Amino acid sequence: MALTAFLLPASDLAAQTKPIDWRTFTAETQAILANYLRINTTNPPGNEILAARFLKAILDREGIEARILDTTELGPNRANLYARLRGNGGKKAIALVHHMDVVPAVASYWTVDPFSGVVKDGYLWGRGALDMKGDGIMHLMSMIAIKRSGIPLTRDIVFIGNADEELGSTGAQVFVDRHADLLRNVEYLITEGSDNYLDANGNVVYFSVGVAEKRAFWQHVLVKGTPSHGSKPTKQNPVPRLIAALYKIAQYETPLHVTPGVDKFFRDISRTYPEPRHTWLSNIAAALGNPEAREWILNDVYWNAILRNTISLTGLTGSNKTNVIPPEASAEIDIRLLPDQDPDSVLALLKRIVADTAVHFTPLLTPKPPLESPTNTALFSAVERAVREREPKAFVTTPMETGATDRPIYRRLGIITYGLSGFKLPQVEIQRGVHGNDERVSPDNIAYGVRFFYDVLRYTQ
Ligand SMILES: [Zn+2]
Repeated sequence: MALTAFLLPASDLAAQTKPIDWRTFTAETQAILANYLRINTTNPPGNEILAARFLKAILDREGIEARILDTTELGPNRANLYARLRGNGGKKAIALVHHMDVVPAVASYWTVDPFSGVVKDGYLWGRGALDMKGDGIMHLMSMIAIKRSGIPLTRDIVFIGNADEELGSTGAQVFVDRHADLLRNVEYLITEGSDNYLDANGNVVYFSVGVAEKRAFWQHVLVKGTPSHGSKPTKQNPVPRLIAALYKIAQYETPLHVTPGVDKFFRDISRTYPEPRHTWLSNIAAALGNPEAREWILNDVYWNAILRNTISLTGLTGSNKTNVIPPEASAEIDIRLLPDQDPDSVLALLKRIVADTAVHFTPLLTPKPPLESPTNTALFSAVERAVREREPKAFVTTPMETGATDRPIYRRLGIITYGLSGFKLPQVEIQRGVHGNDERVSPDNIAYGVRFFYDVLRYTQ
């Protein structure tokens, strides 16, 4: 039998695969997701080992090699999970990565118990349904569907569950630091970092492939002075000096800059706009030179944020007593850089703008490595094909993520990483549920996502 299979051309091999009964497979998928949502992996403290054991048991049952990793390094009750479905090694592997932890849920704000995994009103409810246990189960079950149907693989499929994405990203960090060998032949990596966009009638306008993300470059700003009584003002009061510096920063307009993914994003969405907006968006760099177009474009807070480095003044501390001039005053600034920007030059520029050596900047975090993935790849084409087949009116585009994901950590190893979602959700569900309350997903949507990933994996072979 094995010999016959070996001699057959690929097209005949494909014909030998066993079809999946998607109706029963969907029911099985829903039950697995409900159980996954019942595992409380609120971070802190995480307790991801429970999730890792749960996933490993399923993988063991399917005969897919799986390992629980990094339990010592990540601390008590924490772990990463790694699994691999082997192909013939003809091409490099593709990895599906999700985080097993979830943000806290305040039960009193929820309609149901956030860890009940209950089905109600046509939805499966639970913290993590959208961010990102739902995706994790889409990844898992699409891989299992490939295994069960016996599709011949040229690329291994790697499945990873990480701890701690929602807090410190230690899960991905430790994984990349300790297991570069397990990722050595991985060419593509898929994780969160993009939302598909629906119109008011619930039709998909576009599917998103996240190819780039902003880099957080938060700063602590400090001015030291001499404490004294508020009744006798002095020149050594650090508060006005800090305010003067912050005012200059607030007045500063960061330059506009179009990165390749953002350029493509605007070109892609231009087709959904009437003139003159269609023309403006189809050449965003030119439009930014036109005052009318520029005003309209930058009025959109998301578009503004993907066209420039942004600076938000957020934290502020002076005296905690009205009649005391404090010894120091400080602020925190949320700076987000476009992927191709150099953090050191941006910091040097800020210092020049402030032009006061008494104002001290200290980075609150090291920026993650820059992330801007190419779109002329086998995986990107596979996504386009899978989308075309199920949503012929929709297109695939590349919005930039303004927040942060674990993608750049994997990018460090040279892996081409994408944000990809199998959800077909109205914006309102995403906004309410993700890090909010009443996070839920319809079972149909989970089934849709599993088949979407199943096709993407097949078409990338
Ligand atoms: Zn997430």
